[in-house]
Amino acid sequence: MARRKKIYEGKAKILYEGPEPGTFVQYFKDDATAFNAEKMEVIDGKGVLNNRLSEFFMTGLANIGIPTHFLKRLNMREQLIRSVEIIPLEVIVRNIAAGSMAKRLGMEEGTALPRPIVEFSYKDDKLGDPLVPEEYIIALGWASQQELDDIVALALRVNDFMSGVMYGVGIQLVDFKIEFGRVWEGDFMRLILADEISPDSCRLWDMKSGRKLDKDVFRHDLGDLADAYTEVARRLGVMPTNATHAVKPTLIN
Ligand code: ADP
Ligand code: MG
Repeated sequence: MARRKKIYEGKAKILYEGPEPGTFVQYFKDDATAFNAEKMEVIDGKGVLNNRLSEFFMTGLANIGIPTHFLKRLNMREQLIRSVEIIPLEVIVRNIAAGSMAKRLGMEEGTALPRPIVEFSYKDDKLGDPLVPEEYIIALGWASQQELDDIVALALRVNDFMSGVMYGVGIQLVDFKIEFGRVWEGDFMRLILADEISPDSCRLWDMKSGRKLDKDVFRHDLGDLADAYTEVARRLGVMPTNATHAVKPTLIN
């Protein structure tokens, strides 16, 4: 592979300089981390699955008019994306109480919320991505009021789309995390959806059995993470074959 400049290496992905200005290559690693990287493991095939699933969701969102950073998939683990100025917020949309919300408020996991709730965490691993009120975001200049209003509107549209797609394959979209970034076209700035959408960043529960099909499987040692992600991909028709277990050659006679 040609030498190329590494821009950033995170917990789950690596960004490389892209072939043209304004682009990056996003490489999906097999590394799984949880609890702010206290728990770490390599899960064979996770990167391949997340690359495909993020492509699938971002392409669908683009088709309903939501601007995203996704340009094209390059290979099993890499996609070409538009480079953006990341807004340092984790935008979380919740339909059902789970995870940190359930814990913080002493709610039972699985309690349906009366309406989708959008919340923000400040993206900072050292601080453990703390929940921040809108007022902090605006006062500290991380985003403007107008940007936050746009982000909330976009996040709710992403939620409707993702909920519907998942409902269609018997999966409940409990919550998810997305990130947004700024791009400039001349003097005009707009927000686009960046980072990834995958079972790493969503909570997905099978509607019939309640089986968890997301990163909670890894967080709480509930089974084989790659199997869970493969199940999501299979139901969505994204990857008909099992990405994690190599297909054995068949004898032709
Ligand atoms: P982290 O450990 O910081 O979450 P990841 O492993 O998720 O990192 O790698 C992706 C990083 O790249 C994230 O920090 C994310 O904010 C950033 N990123 C995602 N999409 C883009 C983009 N289009 N342009 C610039 N940065 C991006
Ligand atoms: Mg990340």
